[in-house]
Amino acid sequence: MCYKSKQLLIMPQVALKTLSVTQLDDLFTAQGWPRYRSRQVLDWIYRRGVTRFDDMTNLGRSERIRLADIAVITEPVVSEIQHDAEDGTEKLLFRLEDGETVESVLIPDEDRLTLCLSTQVGCTLDCTFCLTGTMGLKRNLKAHEIVDQVLGARAHAGPERPITNLVFMGMGEPLANLAAVCEAIERLTAPWGLGYSPRRITVSTSGLVPQMAQLGAFRHPVNLAVSLNATTDDVRDRVMGTINRKYPLTALLEACRAYPLPPRRRIFFEYVLLAGVNDPPADARRLVKLLHGIRCKINLIPFNPWPGAPFERPADATVAAFQAILLDAHFSAFVRKSKGRQILAACGQLRSAYQQGFIPLGS
Ligand code: SAH
Ligand code: SF4
Repeated sequence: MCYKSKQLLIMPQVALKTLSVTQLDDLFTAQGWPRYRSRQVLDWIYRRGVTRFDDMTNLGRSERIRLADIAVITEPVVSEIQHDAEDGTEKLLFRLEDGETVESVLIPDEDRLTLCLSTQVGCTLDCTFCLTGTMGLKRNLKAHEIVDQVLGARAHAGPERPITNLVFMGMGEPLANLAAVCEAIERLTAPWGLGYSPRRITVSTSGLVPQMAQLGAFRHPVNLAVSLNATTDDVRDRVMGTINRKYPLTALLEACRAYPLPPRRRIFFEYVLLAGVNDPPADARRLVKLLHGIRCKINLIPFNPWPGAPFERPADATVAAFQAILLDAHFSAFVRKSKGRQILAACGQLRSAYQQGFIPLGS
């Protein structure tokens, strides 16, 4: 792209959020403005959430007028919000420019407010317990569409409820869209951006081994979560077939062992408990062996059912027995409360209901 001023006269207005920082610098240089101006604009957009150039009071009047001529700041569009009165979980449905939709979920928990972000419309993979997996991949999200979920949720939550943690655990496989995810993390961590510490950001993967190494080499040391969900290749092939046939358990656990963990950090292992499939005590004992020597925390997630799902949620006693075996072996193992049960909170459920016409726009 070229931003020479002459060409801009006939070019449509550029959406500033779609530009990388370097592209924004180029745009400003082409106007003859100093580089710090672009940082000031970024600071207004991300840190202060301003969308009108007129409100950017540390820019000169002529610069504000010129910017309004050549550029726009798009705003996230929240087309649906669902609230679970029982546990305070809120699900936001974002409508993207091309009409596609993705979900983000705000999860309050004691002194934290976590936002679960989507990275793709649908998913590259087809895990059989996951509703998003049944959709196929529509497209990857762009970096600004990922960051817009944070800006939209921040505006919705308001200044009294700051979002403290970000998890890339919504729709899609973040590591299949790694470039956009890393660009989004740049903006989420930058001092002129959202200013999050990388330790408050977690990226979850179904196990894309080469990209796990790339994430480990990324300059922002975010947390890694791995969706394990099985202790044998047979069962993992059944529930996460596409990814497990490519990177079976041995390769995945080797990548986990090689992951460069900063001091005092751990890998999070997610384990969705599916009744009669991966929840017997023998699986818990195998899990203990598989994870031996890896600094980790295990999150047990009782399956969150969706209409037509081929699995069932295990009984509470089965979940407790599974957890007890892990605790006895001195692992940190938590049972994730099923948040937002009343609001179709399994990943992909709100989008699906919306698409099937169960939820009218703006209701
Ligand atoms: N693609 C990434 C991140 C999105 S899925 C990954 O697989 O890690 C986020 C988490 O939701 C994963 O741990 C997945 O196992 C879990 N999950 C998906 N569908 C679920 C369901 N119906 N019930 C419980 N957990 C589910
Ligand atoms: Fe995709 Fe993750 Fe769902 Fe698997 S569990 S289909 S990788 S979103």
